[in-house]
Parts: sequence; C-alpha cells; structure tokens
Amino acid sequence: MFRVDNCRVGLLLSIALLSACTEQEPTPLAATRDGHLALGNPSGAVADAAQYGNYLLVKPQYTLSYHRDRGTPNWVSWHLSSAWLGAAARQDDFRPDNTLPAGWYQVSSSSYSGSGFDRGHHCPSADRTGSVADNSATFLMSNMLPQAPRNNQQTWANLENYTRTLVNSGYEVYVIMGSYGKGGTGSAGYAATLNGGKVTVPTRIWKVLVVLPNGTGDAARVTSSTRVIAVDTPNDNGVSPNWGSYRTSVDALEAATGYDLLSAVAPGVQASLEAKIDNGPTQ
Ligand code: MN
Ligand code: MN
Repeated sequence: MFRVDNCRVGLLLSIALLSACTEQEPTPLAATRDGHLALGNPSGAVADAAQYGNYLLVKPQYTLSYHRDRGTPNWVSWHLSSAWLGAAARQDDFRPDNTLPAGWYQVSSSSYSGSGFDRGHHCPSADRTGSVADNSATFLMSNMLPQAPRNNQQTWANLENYTRTLVNSGYEVYVIMGSYGKGGTGSAGYAATLNGGKVTVPTRIWKVLVVLPNGTGDAARVTSSTRVIAVDTPNDNGVSPNWGSYRTSVDALEAATGYDLLSAVAPGVQASLEAKIDNGPTQ
C-alpha cells in the first residue's frame, strides 16, 4: 500500500508539474496571417489623395500612412508570424510605388544614391519570405526611409533578428515602425533632405512590438502583462548597435508623434501597457 500510494502521489505531482509547465508556454496554436491594423490605425490615415500628409496605403503584405511631401511613410504596420515565413529569396528589386495617387512624386531606386543614407526597409525583406510576390513588395520605395547605415545595418538589424527569434518560438508580433523630425546624420554627414528636397531625412526612427502567443482575436487578447517593446533611436551614424538601450514607453512615442498607438486595445489595458518600458531580453 505504502509503495502504491507513493507512486500515486508521484504520478499526481508529475501531472501537476507538467500542467504548470505547459501553462507557461505559448499556446501551441497554428500561426495565421492576421490583419496589419488589428491593433489600430495610429494616425487615422485614409485612402484620400486630399490627405497628402496622412495617406493610407493598404497592401497584402503591410499597411502604411504615406506623406507625399516627405517622400516617406509616417508609419508602416505589419503582422508577423511564422505563417509569413518561407523560402523565397531576397528579391532586391527596389522600385517606385506606382500605386500612389496620380501626380505624386514617386521616389525611385536611385533617389538615395550618394546621400550617405541606406534605403532602410520598414517591413523587412526577411519578414516576408512566404512567396516571391510577398518579398518583392518590401522593396517598394514607399516602404523605405533614408536610414543612417549603422542604424539600419546594426541597431535595426539586431532588433529585426530578435523579433524573428520570438516568432520562431511560437509568438506572433504586431510591428509598427515610423519616423519623425527633419535632419539626420549618415555616413556622409548631416542632411535635412535628399533627392533635390523630395525626400526628408528623419531625425528619429521608432518601433513598437506587441508580442502574443500564436492565436486569433488578437486585440482582445492583449492584457496588461503582454510584452510591448517600444524603441526610439537617433537617425545618426553614431547610434549604438544595442537597440535595448533605446527602449522607451509607448506614451512617450505618442507624445512625440501625436499618434494614438494600439487604439484597438481596451482603454484600460492601453493605459497600463503604454506607460511601461520593456526590460526583457534583447537577444
Ligand atoms: Mn493572431
Ligand atoms: Mn494608445
């Protein structure tokens, strides 16, 4: 009897421990492709050419607010899960976006040439490898900003790579990236604009990541303990490669940009999440 009871206790303990451990892991649901604006439209952008400073451009791969006179997006928002990832090669087919309203200047593949700034993706090439068409869409110049090379190739690359490690661990991530201000410092020094004034060089480059276990009905699943990572970095070639040192609150980004980020999340949850500064792992 004694041995049997011991076994029973052991078995029950094992089941209890197994359950406890299971609850700590992301729910093993299949990854899906979800709406890019599921957590909100930060600036209330609309697809009306009269709104030339806040023009909504919807693509299957990402959604953005474009500023005609800056020649860049204000922000780009995209959903990332393993459902977006595949084996498509990097297309490198930088080109103008001919879906902009008629008569608008179309930034070209050579508009940044010789400026000392990279053609920096918002939605990265490596986040859209599910098909050639998906990858190619990331090379539209409407998805680019003039980004200091060190910011693009080190700080931003590190953050993008870290985001995909989360995705490879069973999470989906809503990513919102944008820029603000005028004037940055690339590898050839300071510039306020390039391409004869058609493209504004931003001063700051920011990103917000909302990290959820794979699932659906995402806005409603965001709680006050959901991991939200917000960063605000200088568009300056002296930037540190360590993105973690630029963490800030969503509230601070909202104050800097005038946007309402995560507006589809319940107001009480938003208030709690947006005041925090992430201190989680950075790699
Ligand atoms: Mn989802
Ligand atoms: Mn908000």
